[in-house]
Amino acid sequence: MAAEVLTQGGARVTIYDAMPSAGRKFLMAGRGGLNLTHSEPLPDFLARYREAMPHLRTAIEAFPPDALRDWSAALGQLTFVGSSGRVFPKAFKASPLLRAWLRRLDANGVQFAFRHRWAGWDEQGRLLFQTPNGPSIAAADATMLALGGASWPRLGSDGAWVDILAAKRIAISKLRPANSGFTVAWSEVFRDRFEGQPLKGVALTVGAHTVRGEAMITRSGIEGGAIYALSAELREAVLALGQARLMIALRPDLDAAALTTRLSGTRGKQSLANFLRKAAQLSPVGIGLMQEAAIAAGRPLAAFSPADLAQLINAIPVQLTGVAAIDRAISTAGGVTFNELDEHFMLRKLPGTFAAGEMVDWEAPTGGYLLQASFATGAAAGRGILRWLNL
Ligand SMILES: Cc1cc2nc3c(=O)[nH]c(=O)nc-3n(C[C@H](O)[C@H](O)[C@H](O)COP(=O)(O)OP(=O)(O)OC[C@H]3O[C@@H](n4cnc5c(N)ncnc54)[C@H](O)[C@@H]3O)c2cc1C
Repeated sequence: MAAEVLTQGGARVTIYDAMPSAGRKFLMAGRGGLNLTHSEPLPDFLARYREAMPHLRTAIEAFPPDALRDWSAALGQLTFVGSSGRVFPKAFKASPLLRAWLRRLDANGVQFAFRHRWAGWDEQGRLLFQTPNGPSIAAADATMLALGGASWPRLGSDGAWVDILAAKRIAISKLRPANSGFTVAWSEVFRDRFEGQPLKGVALTVGAHTVRGEAMITRSGIEGGAIYALSAELREAVLALGQARLMIALRPDLDAAALTTRLSGTRGKQSLANFLRKAAQLSPVGIGLMQEAAIAAGRPLAAFSPADLAQLINAIPVQLTGVAAIDRAISTAGGVTFNELDEHFMLRKLPGTFAAGEMVDWEAPTGGYLLQASFATGAAAGRGILRWLNL
């Protein structure tokens, strides 16, 4: 995005990337439909960035969600608003958009140098790269770093830039998984039976935060949209206390009284699982979760009264024992701290070098906020470079 702004402003640009082709993580984001941005009102949108909001506001206001939609449409990819307010390209994938974008950059004269791994600077301040043909050096009037976070390292962003910038005394908040899963010590029976099964229409609560949506049982824990939405709170609790307690409500639209009435009918010859499934419309995985909680409490589910069952259905405690590894997280928290950057995303300690995108210290939930802030900060840094170069 910076390259686009720069070429429009008359600069000559070369994009170096360690990978053999461009936008691998962007293509991966496309696998889930490419949620480009969100349609909610801008003040609500900005609030998703929490404490980073004041630092991102100007960039996002200058390149807001509507501008991103127009940009996509100009590249031949019209967008639509999904039922949740999320914005997707109609094609529901990233490849046509990326192809059209790369074509346009190419037509604007942007050069691409793939398989060029940036490794820092030489004594004369020139950029050093490792390539399959050995080291390579490039001099630039200005440099834009957009090296991403550290999730899904096989797609290119591996966080190796941290050591290079730290050696220049740039403060970097530790890279941590964001929008990630968590580990849970499921029983073997539960894990074998319910791995890969979704929990739909649930409400998840940690502390004072409740999120409605979906979650997915994994072999080693739990992940999915509603978990990602709580992942900042859950991660900080797990990192501080070694564990976090998640409460799952399977039927959040039914109160305890309504559930108790439903569960007070006669069970007859039905198994408890069948009875719960029919009386409270619970899925097998939901009932499995209740059984896990009952085992942990040392009290068989069969000994629960209708009122106890009703209470448990909407307050199943699940102990999270750790954060899933960063290489499977959707995004990264931490990065170059904002006080290292001026208002144009230039590194104060390295005049002429700019940084934007996920490598900067902000995080946001899924919903299009990650790409929107990456695009907007990239464009802002591009404008900053034009200004720096007096173009
Ligand atoms: C599975 C998945 C699904 C996602 N879905 C969505 C979604 O639907 N909506 C959304 O908003 N966000 C989504 N995201 C997040 C989004 O893709 C990222 O936030 C965004 O790509 C970050 O952009 P970036 O340019 O900052 O970094 P990246 O896209 O990570 O790009 C960084 C680039 O830098 C290169 N690089 C890194 N180090 C070096 C080096 N030393 N030398 C040379 N090159 C280097 C990498 O090869 C890479 O090309 C998803 C992420 C994942 C993993």
